[in-house]
Amino acid sequence: MSHRRAHKLPARPELLLILGSGLTVTLIMIIVAVLLIREHASTLQTAQRSTSNITQLINADVLRNIELYELALQGLISAASNDLPGVPLDVRHKLQFDQSTAAPYKGEVLLLDATGQVIADSSTLRPTARNFANRDYFQVHQNNPEIGLFISRPFKIHCDCDQEWRIAFSRRVNGPNGEFSGVAVATMRLAYFDQLFNSLTIGSGNTINLLNNQGILLAQQPLLERNMIDKDLSSRPNFKRMLQEGSGSFRAISASSGTLRLFTFTSVGHLPLIVVVALANDDVFAAWRRAAWLTAGATGVLCIGLLWLTWMLRLELRRRYRAEKVLSELAATDALTGLANRRILDQRLRLEWDRAQRSSEPLALLMIDVDHFKAFNDRHGHQGGDDALRNVAQVIASNIRRPADLAARYGGEEFAVILPHTDAKGARVIAEQIRSSVEKLPPVAGSVGPITVSVGLSTGDRKNPSSLEQLLLSADQALYAAKHGGRNRTVDADLL
Ligand code: GH3
Ligand code: MG
Ligand code: MG
Repeated sequence: MSHRRAHKLPARPELLLILGSGLTVTLIMIIVAVLLIREHASTLQTAQRSTSNITQLINADVLRNIELYELALQGLISAASNDLPGVPLDVRHKLQFDQSTAAPYKGEVLLLDATGQVIADSSTLRPTARNFANRDYFQVHQNNPEIGLFISRPFKIHCDCDQEWRIAFSRRVNGPNGEFSGVAVATMRLAYFDQLFNSLTIGSGNTINLLNNQGILLAQQPLLERNMIDKDLSSRPNFKRMLQEGSGSFRAISASSGTLRLFTFTSVGHLPLIVVVALANDDVFAAWRRAAWLTAGATGVLCIGLLWLTWMLRLELRRRYRAEKVLSELAATDALTGLANRRILDQRLRLEWDRAQRSSEPLALLMIDVDHFKAFNDRHGHQGGDDALRNVAQVIASNIRRPADLAARYGGEEFAVILPHTDAKGARVIAEQIRSSVEKLPPVAGSVGPITVSVGLSTGDRKNPSSLEQLLLSADQALYAAKHGGRNRTVDADLL
């Protein structure tokens, strides 16, 4: 009997295996992704915090310095308003500019009258005739009594060294009735900012910037381009956003470098100045990116390894399943004929007998024995005898059709057929079919007649016979009767 089907692994364990490892791989990837995203956020936060510290440092230093300039201007203004006649020139000069000495990176400190004429100069007792009525700060103070401290746009002056950038801090000088009577102005070299920014290490590709609230760049370290100082950046969206937000941090494409940057910015006290630290995004996330590549690579290898192992396990499971299936088939099969063996016959007979006992269905048993087989063997040899047994087995197998039917080799040249749900009448038909089909087998060359079989048939139901042994015995008796009756015939035990 050949009950080989497609050797597929049962769907459930295979599905569980694939689902399990798929889920594990997905989980691993989700966990790694979440960790990397969190790490990214914390890297950003750290960068924001440290740049915010830098802006605060700059903020404090710039504020303190400008305060010194404020003091210098206020000293000059109060000395000018308390103009005591008869005070010697050098004493008056000392009174006017005493407060200015502390201001670092100081250029000139001047007092202008209402026409813009220099009337006092920190660098000399007798100022040379100069007029600054066309300067922005002069005009601003002339027109706006409320402006307070004014910070000018950067301007260049020619000195011994080279051209030098400066800015001016200025205050309006009011007359006794609040009328415009001049301007006190102190200039500062922008080198101050370069020195201050240089003292803070922020790494290459990153810049520290100082702008006024008109978008004019006062200082930048390191300079992104030449001629950056005094450049008007007011039209840039990033500047507009900073002006609007006052202080904070955001990531955006930089208009000057065209790359993504992390801007951290704060306004300097109440002054119209904004400090901006711009870090290159690539720089900020360089370490994170390296770690991310490494982690993603390792996770990828791990997941691929896991999937590969799953695949191998699946193949191995299939191989084993196939091997087990083949083994169990071998253990159930009679080697010579391919029919079920005696072990399976006994099991199935017990099973079907019990089932027939529970239901009122009949159970039929055929015992088939090859006639004069000893003589056949003697004539054709054992090889010929085996071939004949195989042919007979094939005929028996081809004459039973129901799935529950079973044909088995009982032993030697004897076969048994179990026919569940079959009464004596049906069993007789099948027995006769087997008997006549064997008879019709083409005769073996050199033999006297065709191979024939005798069949003993017995049927049982709930009442009769009383046991399985009885059923077997009566089938045997029927077979014996068939032999005695002349062989090549079927005998029904019921009719004995
Ligand atoms: P009867 O008609 O009364 O059944 O006569 P018989 O010769 O068939 O009966 P017997 O039981 O005397 O002989 C059975 C013979 O079957 C004995 C043995 O040589 C042969 N035989 C049993 N098993 C095998 C087998 O596996 N292969 C071969 N070639 N012969 C077998
Ligand atoms: Mg026999
Ligand atoms: Mg025989």
